[in-house]
Amino acid sequence: MTPLILIVEDEADLVTLLRYNLESEGFRVAEAGNGEEALVLVKEETPDLILLDWMLPMLSGIEVCRQLRRRPETAEVPIIMLTARGEEGDRIRGLECGADDYVTKPFSPAELIARVRAVLRRARPGLDAETLAFDDLVMDLTAHRVQRGERPVHLGPTEFKLLRHFLQHPKRVFSREQLLDAVWGRDIYVELRTVDVHIRRLRRAINNGTESDLIRTVRSAGYALDRPQA
Ligand code: CA
Repeated sequence: MTPLILIVEDEADLVTLLRYNLESEGFRVAEAGNGEEALVLVKEETPDLILLDWMLPMLSGIEVCRQLRRRPETAEVPIIMLTARGEEGDRIRGLECGADDYVTKPFSPAELIARVRAVLRRARPGLDAETLAFDDLVMDLTAHRVQRGERPVHLGPTEFKLLRHFLQHPKRVFSREQLLDAVWGRDIYVELRTVDVHIRRLRRAINNGTESDLIRTVRSAGYALDRPQA
């Protein structure tokens, strides 16, 4: 799975440079020239990381950051703020609004890529792993096995892919459209309610009735792998 990086930046030259460098490192890239556009784009496909410029026309980077954090589908997406300012006060404000890291312009592409990788590793330790885990649920990607505690869980191929996607993005809410794209692929026509059918099967397989339900249904938003609220 290729991570998608969203660049929110109004300087076209910088966007071109970042896109070139990120794509040659194997990332997928989406771009938005301002905050409004970014907030629309993230609804179509949730990025794995957002590079967010501080100085944007209309909505400021800080405001965009706050709005992204308030939305369930982007609340957990790592954000790296890009800025020309280097003052400590701004750095703190950036981190306070929920950014994960902060890069001061001018920066070298190599430096930025290193930060992107570091933040992605921290946010999604499962990205390159052979084993994914959440709570007492463990997926062995090499052996294609899933266990809940000591109990082996048997999953069909679609449920396996669904669960893998959730385990790679724990706690993140995915709409049914996003799950379709991630698990079935964009080119296949599948009805949305098919997602519900497979979610139901997955839920039944990983929750045997006495265990806690790790699939959270978020009304009108979608599904997430999460611990039940106490
Ligand atoms: Ca700018």
